[in-house]
Amino acid sequence: MDLSFSPEDAAFREEVRCFIAENYPEPLKGKLDEGDEWSKEDYLSWHRILGKKGWVAPAWPTEYGGPGWSATQRFIFSEELARADTIPILPFGISMVGPVIYTFGTPEQKARFLPRILSGEDWWCQGYSEPGAGSDLASLRTKAERDGDHYVVNGQKTWTTLAQHADWGFFLVRTDPSAKPQEGISFLLIDMKTPGITVRPIITLGGEHEVNEVWLENVRVPVENRVHEENKGWTCAKFLLAHERTGIAGVARSKRGIEKLRAIAATELDGDRALIENPFFRRKIAELEIDLAALEFTELRGLAALAAGKPPGAESSLLKIKGTEIQQRITELTLEAVGHYGAPWFRGFGMSDNEHAIGPDYALRAAPTYFNMRKTSIYGGSNEIQRGIIAKMVLGL
Ligand SMILES: Cc1cc2nc3c(=O)[nH]c(=O)nc-3n(C[C@H](O)[C@H](O)[C@H](O)COP(=O)(O)OP(=O)(O)OC[C@H]3O[C@@H](n4cnc5c(N)ncnc54)[C@H](O)[C@@H]3O)c2cc1C
Repeated sequence: MDLSFSPEDAAFREEVRCFIAENYPEPLKGKLDEGDEWSKEDYLSWHRILGKKGWVAPAWPTEYGGPGWSATQRFIFSEELARADTIPILPFGISMVGPVIYTFGTPEQKARFLPRILSGEDWWCQGYSEPGAGSDLASLRTKAERDGDHYVVNGQKTWTTLAQHADWGFFLVRTDPSAKPQEGISFLLIDMKTPGITVRPIITLGGEHEVNEVWLENVRVPVENRVHEENKGWTCAKFLLAHERTGIAGVARSKRGIEKLRAIAATELDGDRALIENPFFRRKIAELEIDLAALEFTELRGLAALAAGKPPGAESSLLKIKGTEIQQRITELTLEAVGHYGAPWFRGFGMSDNEHAIGPDYALRAAPTYFNMRKTSIYGGSNEIQRGIIAKMVLGL
């Protein structure tokens, strides 16, 4: 296993770094750190720039518009994005439904949807979870009944991230109620403007509108929008989840998070010295850094295996658990570092505000980010469930 970077990799890193420096939109720089939120247009602006360059879907095969990078180049690319604090590329189109469509879709579906995902014309959302079907996803009840060349869909989805902006959603629906749970599910692509769809906001602890309930009442979906065979949707669902989990580890973003935490701790005072001088606080940062380094090597080992042609295994569950725990610890320590300045957050304080916030700018989002990051150990399959997968698949228990 060789984990070192070659001179070609170093040149590639330089190319990516220059591209980001020259093309990342000025208005987005530091926007979040200054207390503002990312808008739909913010997400789309960077997506379009990367799309034009052919870099928005690093993992896609070249025949569908991927850049043809090695696993190492993909790793370097994500490191450079994190280093520059760029706005994330939303996963729903690029890392979730795109791979399902190019793997299981018809030629017509590929031609119709893939270019629009790359260009950012279609914003996608994920309609998997239901009030009674989260961890136990196969117990989902939203049903789709055939009526000629349409399905008629009825049911309720929940926790649907950013569905308020979505043009399209990929939904798991029950097409055969009499079959075993996993065998009666189909995978449908649904135009979110179809009559009968209602999107209702769920406001999170940090006061943000990020997730929604989606209600479907007699929604007519053309049969041609089903991916894969009827009742074979579970195959697509599982394939998609493996893609979703690997992306959640976020090693590069966590590295950047620790850098910022160090800078904050060097500025904040603990009595008459910098907080970073406090041995207990230093120790907590050091422990974080050690865990992150270990996670990075696990990810690199996975990359080396991928490069050698081995399929991804249960390590995606391991990366998900450790990655999200580290992300949460960074936000906890950041909140601890800013102390009482983390308290006066309320929505409205931002760049465009006349009032100055109380405390330094870097404290502005410490509390909402801390609250928001509680989600990471739940979504993408909760960490308890991932531990169950590791127990079964890795430890053979
Ligand atoms: C912010 C956020 C965004 C999300 N975005 C989306 C989205 O865009 N689209 C979408 O479809 N879904 C989305 N989800 C849903 C997410 O995938 C589910 O919340 C998750 O799968 C857990 O399901 P649940 O919430 O129903 O909890 P439950 O399944 O009810 O679990 C409750 C608790 O019990 C534990 N538990 C359950 N079963 C077991 C078991 N067998 N062994 C041990 N412990 C167990 C769980 O780990 C959890 O701690 C999102 C969730 C959040 C929080």
